[in-house]
Amino acid sequence: MYDVIIIGGGVVGCGIARELMRHKARVLLLEKTNDICNGQSKANTAIIHGGYDAKPGTLKAKFNVLGNALFDSLHEELDVPVQWNTSLVVSFRQEDHCKLEKLLQQGKDNGVRGELRIIDRQELRRREPNIGPEAKEALLVGAGGIVCPYELTIAYAENAATNGAEFIRNAEVSKVSSLPDGRWQVDSSAGTFVARAVVNAAGTYSDVFNNMVSARKVHIRPRRGEYYILDKQYAGAFHAAMFQLPTSMGKGTLIAPTVDGTILVGPTAQDIDDKEDKRTTAQGLATALQQGRLTWPNLPTRGFITTFSGLRATGNTGDFVLGEPEDAPLFFNCCAVESPGLTSAPAIAKWTAEQISMRLELPENPGFNPRRKGIAKFRDMDDSQRAAAITKNGDYGRVVCRCETVTEAEIRESIRRPVGARDVDGVKRRTRAGMGRCQAGFCTPRTVQILAEELGISPLEVTKFGGNSRLLADWLFTEEYHG
Ligand SMILES: Cc1cc2nc3c(=O)[nH]c(=O)nc-3n(C[C@H](O)[C@H](O)[C@H](O)COP(=O)(O)OP(=O)(O)OC[C@H]3O[C@@H](n4cnc5c(N)ncnc54)[C@H](O)[C@@H]3O)c2cc1C
Repeated sequence: MYDVIIIGGGVVGCGIARELMRHKARVLLLEKTNDICNGQSKANTAIIHGGYDAKPGTLKAKFNVLGNALFDSLHEELDVPVQWNTSLVVSFRQEDHCKLEKLLQQGKDNGVRGELRIIDRQELRRREPNIGPEAKEALLVGAGGIVCPYELTIAYAENAATNGAEFIRNAEVSKVSSLPDGRWQVDSSAGTFVARAVVNAAGTYSDVFNNMVSARKVHIRPRRGEYYILDKQYAGAFHAAMFQLPTSMGKGTLIAPTVDGTILVGPTAQDIDDKEDKRTTAQGLATALQQGRLTWPNLPTRGFITTFSGLRATGNTGDFVLGEPEDAPLFFNCCAVESPGLTSAPAIAKWTAEQISMRLELPENPGFNPRRKGIAKFRDMDDSQRAAAITKNGDYGRVVCRCETVTEAEIRESIRRPVGARDVDGVKRRTRAGMGRCQAGFCTPRTVQILAEELGISPLEVTKFGGNSRLLADWLFTEEYHG
């Protein structure tokens, strides 16, 4: 019997698990895939939005601004990389000035903090010399920033787990039903569990669970966004996150620097019917490139190292659907949390945990430790720190991923940590091994071997992302590799 079961291990579910541990509560998070952070939270633009874009009065507007203000403390407490690099919303036609004015006013109405003003062509060029010649002016959003979305989600989960929350992965929830005594039964592929309250944080599938328990139906139609990633070699080409004017389909195509020094070009916005269709397409990528070139005409296409896509949980209400539906007490929705959901997640997590703790009358947890330290990164150390790290742990002396300078020590630690990596992609998100120029061409065999050793399984059983995504075909190959 649990106090709370959370369905979904994205940034929202993991954030709620962490915030709930401020109270004495038995908390279980069920995630259907082989790892946390496998949905929208791993495939987005990683922008901490200022909050100018959402319609005033909506939950999106409210939680965006509240969430934005929490990132400094998350950086400090959870050791998550955050950079306040500002956002610039660029207009490319003189007649679009009024659209920038509207966004400026909307930002003021939403209570966007910090600098918020329209800058002219000269200032725009001074700030961003690589901007295209068609650019006319821009809305400068001082409260715009960037974060590592995986590190945030993983940090939330690790901190929740060290404070006592339980996580079960490969636990696909199939049914949520109310019991006669008011508790909830949750049936999953990992077993049946009972709790006093349930949180629905299932991303693109959150409509399914809402619709199972409430007559107030929600419909989510995934909106796919496709991206290119540009090599670190081009870091510094743009300083701010470069937006174009938003459309009815979203915030438009960006040139967006990441905290790791790469640059994202995208996303596109295409409504699709299949909640699993994360393909990239020739047409989508051509659109991203064409739109990206408006902002950056000299976009160096030979610097692209990979492409990816993410599915936004776009609901039919146009807004987040949060909190308890009237007809489903103690069932807490975090439904249709699309963009600006990453920015809003810290505030959604705090608010939802507060609602639950009030309703369940959970006592405070005096032993709650809000702090978590990330894995010490060899690439960020100076020579003397490197020498000290190697003296303490010889595994720091073996670089496995050459592109990102990730050592064996970091990979082993990523697997040993609470809610640790279980597959090659899990190691990648926790350490960046495989995220660089060669896209795991060199480091995969060694990462597979380390995963097998740490998990006590055969290398043949190691997967890229769980399920049947095995990387090795038979023993002959692995024995040859071992020499
Ligand atoms: C292309 C794109 C760009 C974006 N850009 C930004 C941005 O720059 N800034 C910003 O603020 N926001 C952005 N967002 C939005 C942001 O990424 C999401 O709002 C946020 O990640 C939502 O987190 P979540 O935890 O609700 O969902 P998810 O991360 O999708 O997590 C849901 C989890 O539930 C699991 N699940 C589903 N069904 C079940 C089941 N039956 N049983 C158990 N588990 C289940 C899934 O596997 C998944 O892990 C973007 C989104 C996309 C797709």
